[in-house]
Amino acid sequence: MTYKAEYIWIDGTLPTAKLRSKTKILADGAELPIWGFDGSSTNQAEGHASDCVLKPVFSCPDPIRGGDDVLVLCEVFNTDMTPHESNTRAELREVAERFAAQESLFGIEQEYTFFQGSRPLGFPEGGFPAPQGGYYCGVGSDEIFGRDVVEAHLENCLKAGIGISGINAEVMPGQWEFQVGPLSPLEVSDHLWLARWLLYRTAEDFGISATLDAKPAKGDWNGAGAHTNFSTKKMRENYDAIIAAAESLGEGDKPIEHIKNYGSGVESRLTGAHETAPWNEYSYGVSNRGASVRIPWQVEQDGKGYIEDRRPNANVDPYVVTRLMVDTCCTALEKAELV
Ligand code: ADP
Ligand code: MN
Ligand code: MN
Ligand code: MN
Repeated sequence: MTYKAEYIWIDGTLPTAKLRSKTKILADGAELPIWGFDGSSTNQAEGHASDCVLKPVFSCPDPIRGGDDVLVLCEVFNTDMTPHESNTRAELREVAERFAAQESLFGIEQEYTFFQGSRPLGFPEGGFPAPQGGYYCGVGSDEIFGRDVVEAHLENCLKAGIGISGINAEVMPGQWEFQVGPLSPLEVSDHLWLARWLLYRTAEDFGISATLDAKPAKGDWNGAGAHTNFSTKKMRENYDAIIAAAESLGEGDKPIEHIKNYGSGVESRLTGAHETAPWNEYSYGVSNRGASVRIPWQVEQDGKGYIEDRRPNANVDPYVVTRLMVDTCCTALEKAELV
């Protein structure tokens, strides 16, 4: 007998990478082998030397096919087994390892928007829906568009064992959010990439597409972000560590270095309106949804917990945002002896 393994990888499409996958039939009990693909079709190689290598790094039950079938997330390597330049997970592995003793945890809030044809789901042909106000966490067919897809996606994530921790309808019609974590940097990123794949795959069966575009509707409509919640062991015990982490993200060139890597089109979303801070001014504050980084009120109350970086776009690469946050914050916490 055999089982099916869906090999999933991140391609080299610019400016925002896409997910690709293909199926391998394996004999029952067989381990997941290294595999390959045509990199010239994914913007990862030239036609004259097109082979790229897929190395399984994380697998889970396939909730779409069921049975013994699995989803297999892969890193991409060159044929000499050096990490491919599109392989951002390899860089995170090194940084996560270097600061492992600080026990970083991340919870990422993934916002996204459903489309049917060229319009966001819930946008009427040739016009606009009622202005924002009633859609966030709404109920009823006048407020909610795509709940059947969202419920099916949630069920699929749970069956796959993804560390999904909640869902909610967002501020714009057809816009939704799910949260993954709290988990370690590599875990939260692997789980988020698979949850994204499951989102596209689940919606496909409903004839709907999902996009992580940061500003899918121009004008007075909320963009889509990926608020990244972060803590170290010390931050979960001590308020000085919370402040030190929030401060470290504002030091020197850090704001610009982070923003540049927080997803494509970040300036179009971080305008200072729609619950965002301007992309070129770093700020942090308790309870402040107009700041770059928010310290939740409960965290101030308890004197410990986590911080929320509100800047990353929905289309951010979680391997990149978690690497930058661990590197910046954990370096500062180490210097301040808050470890
Ligand atoms: P909001 O919409 O109010 O910003 P959410 O409930 O959508 O908040 O998301 C909060 C996120 O914070 C969740 O993903 C959760 O996993 C994460 N989180 C909670 N505690 C921690 C922690 N100690 N470290 C990192 N992330 C955390
Ligand atoms: Mn949220
Ligand atoms: Mn949200
Ligand atoms: Mn948030």
